[in-house]
Amino acid sequence: MSFAEVIGQQQAVNQLASMAGSGKVPAALLLAGMEGVGKCFTAYQLAQVVNCRQSAAADACGTCPDCRQIARRVHPDVLLVEAEKNQIKIDQVREIHHYLGFAPLSGRFKVVIINDAHLLNGAAANALLKTLEEPPAQTIFLLVTHRQQLLLPTILSRCITVMFKPLSRVALKEILSRQGTGAEARLVEKAVALSGGSISRARYFLDTDNLSWRDDFLSRIGALTPESYEDVFALAEEVGRDAERIDMTLYLLETFFRDALVLTMDPAGGGQCNLFHPDLAELLQGFAAGRSATELLSLLEELNRLQSRLLFNINIRLALEALLMKLVARR
Ligand SMILES: [Zn+2]
Repeated sequence: MSFAEVIGQQQAVNQLASMAGSGKVPAALLLAGMEGVGKCFTAYQLAQVVNCRQSAAADACGTCPDCRQIARRVHPDVLLVEAEKNQIKIDQVREIHHYLGFAPLSGRFKVVIINDAHLLNGAAANALLKTLEEPPAQTIFLLVTHRQQLLLPTILSRCITVMFKPLSRVALKEILSRQGTGAEARLVEKAVALSGGSISRARYFLDTDNLSWRDDFLSRIGALTPESYEDVFALAEEVGRDAERIDMTLYLLETFFRDALVLTMDPAGGGQCNLFHPDLAELLQGFAAGRSATELLSLLEELNRLQSRLLFNINIRLALEALLMKLVARR
């Protein structure tokens, strides 16, 4: 493993490699960008680069004992902190403080990777802030997040941000082929189109059960007609019960409305190659017919608001009911 292993994030990698090469890696970095684009993976590569015994300046050798231990995620100087039950709590930040009370054992730097840093609760964030204000020597904090707007401004101001982009279709296919999924090309093509640039979503849709669920869900959304309130209640109730799929459900709605919007603006479907759901073009055409771009845009805005409220234990069923009602209300 090394920076060379990171696929499709050249700009972020260049930025990190130049910091490492000049020996000026900041004490706190924020690795930001949507889910499933390699932020955490890259954090581990950076941990290697700063701790590699045979470091060739801006990249790691990948073979020395430090590199190997970091790759196996068992290096004593690299700590991964993750949310438990959707929260990172103050006790976990206290553990970080304790961990940083000792000098690096083997490597040159202690690296603390905080995954999903937006899940730090208030007390934990404030405790962490104190450390970020006066970080111990030989320490690097890597805060990984796909929702940086939820982080305290005071924490953000202590970090240098490195942005990760959605992965290109070419990069996604390359990663999937290296991981050896064994899936047939047509399925890979479909999963990659659906993923919106996220490798975790691409893998999700490589599973044919998940793909059938998506077909079923979207065909029911596409079939909603004016005043089909019963269907709205049933859909909202099912989604409300399926907590594990809520993020993916909202993602499907977002991409479906977005595709419909593209077709509204370009009814000939000239942009079809850029659709998330090119295989559902007919359903989308039917859904888009008779809806204005303004209506679809307001649905998308509403959906975005719902997505950002997800972390606050809202009643999904009611929120989704309200959203879907707009689809079937008489216009
Ligand atoms: Zn090495």
